[in-house]
Amino acid sequence: MPLRLLKYAISREHPAPRFFRDCVEPKKTYDVVIIGGGGHGLAAAYYLAKDYGITNVAVLEKGYIGGGNTGRNTTIIRSNYLTPEGVKFYDASVKIYEGLSEELDLNLFYSNRGHFTLAHTESAMRTMRWRAEVNKHVGVESYVVGPDEISKACPQLDISCSGQAPIIGALYHAPGSVARHDGVAWGYARGADQFGVEIFQNTEVTRIDVKGGKVCGVQTNNGYISTNKVLSAVAGFTPRITQMVDLQTPIVIHPLQACVTEPMKPWLDTILVSGSLHVYVSQSSRGELVMGSSLDPYEMHSTRSSLDFVEGLTSHITDMFPFLSNVKVVRQWAGMADLTPDFAPIMGKTPIEGFYLDAGWGTWGFKATPISGKTMAETIARDMAPDLIKSFRLSRFEDYELTGEKGAASVGH
Ligand SMILES: Cc1cc2nc3c(=O)[nH]c(=O)nc-3n(C[C@H](O)[C@H](O)[C@H](O)COP(=O)(O)OP(=O)(O)OC[C@H]3O[C@@H](n4cnc5c(N)ncnc54)[C@H](O)[C@@H]3O)c2cc1C
Repeated sequence: MPLRLLKYAISREHPAPRFFRDCVEPKKTYDVVIIGGGGHGLAAAYYLAKDYGITNVAVLEKGYIGGGNTGRNTTIIRSNYLTPEGVKFYDASVKIYEGLSEELDLNLFYSNRGHFTLAHTESAMRTMRWRAEVNKHVGVESYVVGPDEISKACPQLDISCSGQAPIIGALYHAPGSVARHDGVAWGYARGADQFGVEIFQNTEVTRIDVKGGKVCGVQTNNGYISTNKVLSAVAGFTPRITQMVDLQTPIVIHPLQACVTEPMKPWLDTILVSGSLHVYVSQSSRGELVMGSSLDPYEMHSTRSSLDFVEGLTSHITDMFPFLSNVKVVRQWAGMADLTPDFAPIMGKTPIEGFYLDAGWGTWGFKATPISGKTMAETIARDMAPDLIKSFRLSRFEDYELTGEKGAASVGH
């Protein structure tokens, strides 16, 4: 056993170094309470402290930090969306991600890979051209490529997909990247903690009190906290929280599943997504193939994974890469994706004074973690949403001003 570990085991003089303080009992009152210790809640806490000097903040997490969708996602980061509003927003996030390891002083294994969204039909090609034009218009590097360029980037790919659905082109997006998802949560947690934010794990919000249309406190399994500002950043648990304040949203919860193979020697540099075959794949820094599919087609509040998912996914992945037929899938899991009708998030103020919502992240919220934290922090600090997130306001559903992202967000997370 390494001497360092033995020292910790036998002596109280050498407490194990902690990533952030072990906060046990919340104070009676905070300026801001954040529900949810996923990437979004922690990033909002970090930017509240860093950008606005608001440090009397508690982050309440019912389990452990990053244990929700943040630690379950397939880590794809990109900005090649369909609407100018979406592209600008995710591009701002990508730009923060590029310098985030340095800013948080933690190696997030941010790895720029390039991202291909494969098209197997003429109608899919039409969407790729549309996205390429919107992306270019906003200054994001995306363009349509033919089968030869795809083969050059990934010679192992069977362009005919075993004759099932030949690939006729793709949208190539140079900034497409992956990063270590739990590292993002831990990095923001440590950063927020260093500014004085208090993070409580195993602390569940069970009630939110509203008086005269204003938030005034939250009940937890760890005591009562008075506060005038509450941010809900709970992804798949959003309907349970909005119910506590009697707020209607169009969010529905569907399971989203993923899996990894045993580690292999590095062979896949890029990220590949096929909307028609409902699969996507990248290779992690450990050599595992990280693979996922589209949402399960039924509403369910559960993180149970299924045999159906892994059967469907592996059959399509082996159409694309027949040589993988003997590779073992070693782990599979699911998360609860919070979906909106237009596949764009819901961010900002709500009709309840002091209750802020960061939700509707479905299958695409990991890439948005830095910019959602930054813009939600600004919304809370100034009590006004910045322009970048105005088209994601909750009231867009009443006003029929949707931000239709389905063509860019349904399979390619
Ligand atoms: C399988 C899968 C693959 C995905 N792949 C990608 C991808 O490749 N790229 C991408 O951009 N996005 C992806 N996503 C989506 C992404 O993971 C999420 O949108 C994002 O992580 C949401 O982060 P969050 O911080 O809002 O929520 P979460 O990380 O889910 O955090 C919310 C937290 O709130 C806590 N909580 C809930 N209720 C309470 C309560 N009452 N009191 C206290 N705490 C509470 C939960 O325990 C949880 O930890 C994927 C999701 C899944 C499930």
